[in-house]
Amino acid sequence: MTAATTIWRATVLTLFPDMFPGPLGMSLAGRALASGLWALEARDIRDSATDRHRSVDDTPAGGGPGMVLRADVLAAAIDAAEGTSDRTRDRPLLLMSPRGRPLSQARVKELAAGPGPLLVCGRFEGVDQRVIEARNLEEVSIGDYVLSGGEIAAMALIDACVRLLPGVMGKAESGAEESFSQGLLEYPQYTRPQTFQGMPIPDILLSGDHARVAAWRRAEAEALTQARRPDLWAARPDPTRTKNTTKG
Ligand code: SAM
Repeated sequence: MTAATTIWRATVLTLFPDMFPGPLGMSLAGRALASGLWALEARDIRDSATDRHRSVDDTPAGGGPGMVLRADVLAAAIDAAEGTSDRTRDRPLLLMSPRGRPLSQARVKELAAGPGPLLVCGRFEGVDQRVIEARNLEEVSIGDYVLSGGEIAAMALIDACVRLLPGVMGKAESGAEESFSQGLLEYPQYTRPQTFQGMPIPDILLSGDHARVAAWRRAEAEALTQARRPDLWAARPDPTRTKNTTKG
């Protein structure tokens, strides 16, 4: 494999390729895209339609509202996209789906460490089950709510991965201590002014005592996680966690 094929690449299959790069063309991800730290390819599913009307969907078998993306058209779109990439890289094939396993920072890290995924964006009522099975698509959800299409979900996933790629985040933006990095939500952040609407920055953060600052931040992160995300708190492997020290 040459160095040129190792760049992290996201391939998006969508009915709305013009939505991309959208927000991914700006700020951190956009600068990294422009400087070649990652690559993005948005492909129109409709290009794989075979009939005169370029149809991609049809009514649900068994009745019901809405339309369903056709298995044959979507499979052809996936195969065409895979044909243009290096198959030996064994890239993950993802389907953005509210039925999927919720996206986690751990899965984001795995995806960022690989060659980059192919992401299928559903529309309408979703996609024919047979293409999910035939192409072994991994269904990924970005939360327990329903979007009108998979594009915004795909952008969220790509953004989360891109910021972890080597060279994308500067040292100043390092993700080492941010939410989920140690199974905890992040501690509260403060900056100038020293007093805002009668609320001062906690004294300890201005003390210059790095050990006490670190202990305070750890305790705040643990308290926040206990209060807001008992699921994360319960899943933490660390048995030496401290008691809740701040109010909700
Ligand atoms: N009928 C589907 C259901 O009830 O599960 C919802 C289809 S939704 C209107 C259309 C498309 O948006 C989905 O196929 C999926 O690609 C995307 N989508 C919607 N919500 C999502 C979520 N929470 N996470 C990831 N993708 C989502």
